[in-house]
Amino acid sequence: MYTEDIIRRVRDSVDIYDVVSGYVSLKKAGKNWLGLCPFHSEKTPSFNVNPGKQIFHCFGCGVGGDAFKFLELQEGLNFPEAVKHLAGRAGITLPESRPRADEKKSDDERKALLKITAEAADYFRSELEGPAGSAARAYLAKRGLTESIIRDFALGFARPEWDGLLKHLRQKGHAPALLEKAGLIVKRSEGEGHYDRFRGRIIFPIRDISGQVIAFGGRVMDDSLPKYLNSPETPLYSKSNVLYCLDQAKEPARKQGYFIIVEGYLDAIACHQYGAKNAVATLGTALTDGHLRLMRRFAQKLMLIFDPDPAGVKATLRGFELFAGSGMKVNVVSLPDGDDPDTFLKNKGYDAFAACLRGSAKFMDFVLAQVVKDGAAASIDEKVEREAEMLGFITRLPSGIEQDHYLKKTAEALNVDEVTLRQDLAKQRTAHTGPRERTGEKIAERKGHRPKAEEMLVHLMLRDENIARELSGQLTAQDFTDPLLQRAVKRIFDQLERSASLDLRLMQVEGDEELNRILTHYSVRELDWENESNSSEKEESKNKSIRDCVTLIKQHDPERQIKDIIKAIREADEKGDREESQRLLELQRDLSKRPGRSIPGHGPGRSWS
Ligand SMILES: [Zn+2]
Repeated sequence: MYTEDIIRRVRDSVDIYDVVSGYVSLKKAGKNWLGLCPFHSEKTPSFNVNPGKQIFHCFGCGVGGDAFKFLELQEGLNFPEAVKHLAGRAGITLPESRPRADEKKSDDERKALLKITAEAADYFRSELEGPAGSAARAYLAKRGLTESIIRDFALGFARPEWDGLLKHLRQKGHAPALLEKAGLIVKRSEGEGHYDRFRGRIIFPIRDISGQVIAFGGRVMDDSLPKYLNSPETPLYSKSNVLYCLDQAKEPARKQGYFIIVEGYLDAIACHQYGAKNAVATLGTALTDGHLRLMRRFAQKLMLIFDPDPAGVKATLRGFELFAGSGMKVNVVSLPDGDDPDTFLKNKGYDAFAACLRGSAKFMDFVLAQVVKDGAAASIDEKVEREAEMLGFITRLPSGIEQDHYLKKTAEALNVDEVTLRQDLAKQRTAHTGPRERTGEKIAERKGHRPKAEEMLVHLMLRDENIARELSGQLTAQDFTDPLLQRAVKRIFDQLERSASLDLRLMQVEGDEELNRILTHYSVRELDWENESNSSEKEESKNKSIRDCVTLIKQHDPERQIKDIIKAIREADEKGDREESQRLLELQRDLSKRPGRSIPGHGPGRSWS
């Protein structure tokens, strides 16, 4: 990793406007530049770039950050890669992070393996194009693949012989040991030597997120078995962290806001050929957390094309645990008559497919439909079983509102009393108590507006460091009642303590998207009076706002406020300031007499007499 110093030097030497304007057309709007957000689809621009703070924020979808973050999102880079990219742009030489000997070795090996897989892909492709590939070409044409799609996906062919690839790559100077490591050849079980893994198959190169070939899948052209054969796990390829077509699907998915998940190579390719370019396929494995992490960089929603046979249903249901904790929205798509995407698209076309996507069910509705199927007519024993299974799902839903919704639906579907169901759920909950218990409250908190005064102060502090510094002497994070704003204030104050200025990137917390969004949101958003031309008026309305907000926030805790006043009275008395002491006494009396008063954003007033 690079030091903070280097990172700052790199960032200071590029202008975020230059970086972003390479991707987004920007127009000046006040102090910001404004454009159409590249991360969600919109018709009215809400994507802001603030050159003063060198950050961007979209008021439509909430993403924001600095130039590094922009590149991470736009190019799918990780942070060190983004630093490297911008350093290159600014002509800054990064210090060689001296890798340990074994790291260096594995890095060299990786490069060698990538060279081998790239050359193997070229070989398979030329075999498909050459005389040996005529039957394979005919097969692909019969399956409806166009020549341009065959080229886009770099499909290839492996002859039905034992050492075509082995000979070819050995001629190029690659050692058998490395070819074996790349998963391309297999050691003979008896005697010396190796033979080709892929023989007599159509070859589908598997590429990583940046488009480099890392592995292969092979499919037979007749009914022989196995129908599909994939590369084994290699230093380049781990099937639980790779999705077929992700390199091509990531941008379309970002634009459309979701990925389509299918099962096989040909399904994924058909989706792309017919216009559903946001489709990816898993490679002979169920979706994993690694897959979700890859996709979450580009879209928050998934459409699973569901395989209606019993094994497919089970596999889909097993995804529940994974999805429930992921924060992603997941829908399940059923194609009529158990069609797979490949045959469906060929027979009915893209519009019919898109209609199925629109008709998709939320994952939990799918679960409900599968678990309680014709439940109202079921025997009492079956009902008990299905109820237990449903409650198992419901209790793990992260939101209280959702739990409530599906309790009702389950009661309806099983034709049982909702109250009984709730009691049973409560029993299950006490059986496994966990942090989930409180999430219902959290949702309720989020539903209401954030306290205005708190919001205003966070906004002011993020727009103006001087205000933040001033307020850090008057308030603490605990003065803020909204949990999110409290986190933000804590980050702001911590940052001020550690360094002279507010650095947005250092304030952001990896993984706390909610916090990161609010930080960029208020850093970029202009304050009402910032556009007022008269500067003394501006100053006056700003100061008044700050005073009002601080007063209001202090009032959140009447007891503390009164304590503060009593302390101030004592201090005034000690100094012999009779006048001040009198004023404070009156204030205290006034406060204690006042009936409950309403505090913005806090609903009904509280009485503090
Ligand atoms: Zn956006």
